Amino acid sequence: MVDVKSQYLKIKEEVDSGIQEVLDTTAFINGPQVKKFQKEFETYLDVKHVIPCANGTDALQIAMMAVGLKPGDEVIVPAFTYVATAEVIALLGLVPVMVDVDADTFNINIEGIKSAISPKTKAIVPVHLYGQSADMEAIMKIAEDHKLWVIEDNAQAIGADYTFSDGRKVKTGTIGHIGCTSFYPSKNLGCYGDGGAIMTNDDALGTLLHKIANHGQVVRYYHDVVGCNSRLDSIQAVVLSAKLPHLDVYRDARMKVADYYDNAFADVDVLETPFRASYTTHVFHQYTLKVKDGSRDALKAYLDEHKIPNMIYYPVPLYKQEAFKASSNGLEHLENTEALCKEVISLPIHTEMGEAQLAYICDKVIAFFK
Ligand SMILES: *Cc1c(COP(=O)(O)O)cnc(C)c1O
Repeated sequence: MVDVKSQYLKIKEEVDSGIQEVLDTTAFINGPQVKKFQKEFETYLDVKHVIPCANGTDALQIAMMAVGLKPGDEVIVPAFTYVATAEVIALLGLVPVMVDVDADTFNINIEGIKSAISPKTKAIVPVHLYGQSADMEAIMKIAEDHKLWVIEDNAQAIGADYTFSDGRKVKTGTIGHIGCTSFYPSKNLGCYGDGGAIMTNDDALGTLLHKIANHGQVVRYYHDVVGCNSRLDSIQAVVLSAKLPHLDVYRDARMKVADYYDNAFADVDVLETPFRASYTTHVFHQYTLKVKDGSRDALKAYLDEHKIPNMIYYPVPLYKQEAFKASSNGLEHLENTEALCKEVISLPIHTEMGEAQLAYICDKVIAFFK
């Protein structure tokens, strides 16, 4: 699905020398590289505070901890997402309330959010799925009206722009009260191990998030709040600093792959190519097709047989997962989520894809439907 190796070879010198420097100085934890990347990332995103942490799941957990929710409080999430979004909510004794997604954007449905709000609702976690922003202006308006926190799960959309109706353009992950992202190797900005970050424009939240990620302390051995241990290590920061200047080029390369696929599949009636919402750029963490004639699983088997990587993100609605049955709020059936779990299939998309690879994949997919 990705080609991390070829991408590495293009930045090898910088990465290798940076890692060697970490080895030479043995500042594996909290080396100057971490602070350097933090500042660079703040500049790139145009956000006041970046708090580097150990992974994207921790980022979400720390964000939940920072907004002071109490056991039993409800948090609205899309039912069609990666498990981490709801997992941290349940882990903290909060209740994930799952809402349907839009069939075209794959992102959380606005009317669904409105009807899920109860007196116990405290937060909304929109997920910018596959690289495209949720309808943040509408979500921020609902949050304002109902005094709710908004925590963006931006793990799949780093570098995407969101445009408000007044023309203001901002990076996803900097719109809600807190944004979270992951630097897992296959993400659009990936390191060579685990990594994550939390973003906020709120000074008080920024201080608190830093504190929670560091055992609840500012002064060493004086613990103000119950926190956790979540650090980005110096070696990962080196990799991220080497890659960040190329992120927009990486994004463009992904968009080109998506355009190629779109063109190739334009005449295949049963395939629905990704929808592009007008208010967001699509940074294509995934290129996800909808197979409309019930043959998705057969297509998957056929691609597997021809050794073409493919994935189903995600095969099971969150509320049908064994782990979340108890906290699923009695919801049995969300129409779009159910349909998407049966229809979606993602094809390889990354920064190093060539014309020949793309042509091969497209020929095979098209041949399957002939
Ligand atoms: C990858 C991902 C996460 C979690 O990131 P990790 O770094 O793997 O913990 C959370 N949410 C979404 C939507 C993701 O894609």
